[in-house]
Amino acid sequence: TTKYIATPTRTKEILTKYKFFFKKSLGQNFIIDANVLENIIDRAGIDKQSGVIEIGPGIGALTEQLGIHAKNVLAFEIDQRLFPILEDTLVQYDNIKLIHQDILQADVHASIEDSFSPDQDVHIVANLPYYITTPILTKLLQEKLPVDSITVMIQKEVAERMAAKPSTKSYGSLTIAIQYYTTAQVVMHVPKRVFMPQPNVDSAVLKLTLRDEPPVYVADESYFFSMVQACFSQRRKTLRNNLTSYLKNAYDKETISTMLAEIGIDGMRRGESLTMDEFAKLANSFYQAGR
Ligand code: SAM
Repeated sequence: TTKYIATPTRTKEILTKYKFFFKKSLGQNFIIDANVLENIIDRAGIDKQSGVIEIGPGIGALTEQLGIHAKNVLAFEIDQRLFPILEDTLVQYDNIKLIHQDILQADVHASIEDSFSPDQDVHIVANLPYYITTPILTKLLQEKLPVDSITVMIQKEVAERMAAKPSTKSYGSLTIAIQYYTTAQVVMHVPKRVFMPQPNVDSAVLKLTLRDEPPVYVADESYFFSMVQACFSQRRKTLRNNLTSYLKNAYDKETISTMLAEIGIDGMRRGESLTMDEFAKLANSFYQAGR
């Protein structure tokens, strides 16, 4: 019987056959447990009508399962050495298309138009290379792609930061950057033993469901994100002190306190206690005042 790629024996066979060696610099940790993959696909909400984009197929462990469960799959892989392998391991799936490209350089909009029909729901599913998790997710979200969800395996701590609630240790500017575009949920914790080689960090699966529109009104997005970052720049400092350092060329401490009081936010609070709504209020009022 043929086994899935995502098994220890099949994976070892493939690696030996092609004399493949892992490149740590490309975040290559392959999954060797098909049950984990089926769970991820299930959580992602993939069905036989779905179009799926995968980032970093590796030797095809997740790609194969996506080929089985989805209508069609488009996968971006940066490592040229994997292409002869993927042609072999995925030979029986005619609904999978592979693109040799760095995802950070790719025109994903154009690829979606080429590969999926307008009435198809499109999802992104990946076991991401951990060294560029945040740049990849930031790119995918800022480009406002026509996708329904993004379900990714990433480092556990990063997943927790992206899905965090106010007044928790994990809550920060990354939380706001992600939750401005999506609702974020940690859907699974994944043990190290399902990877080959095993990573040094713990992993979790994060599901991002894209919002139709942002949850708050923001007058200027880049101003908003800069202000959020400023409020978290020294976590132990008060909001007033962080804002005073950030805005020192424009306002003094008293003016900042007054402006905060006017919108009903106590300057003695810490940035980590502000909700997205409060950050929006704060950024909008300073933005208007500066015009
Ligand atoms: N999907 C496979 C699995 O689950 O077994 C492999 C996942 S492995 C964690 C990450 C994959 O992303 C590797 O195959 C790596 O070569 C690829 N990769 C790394 N950087 C990339 C980039 N910038 N663009 C596209 N793929 C990349």
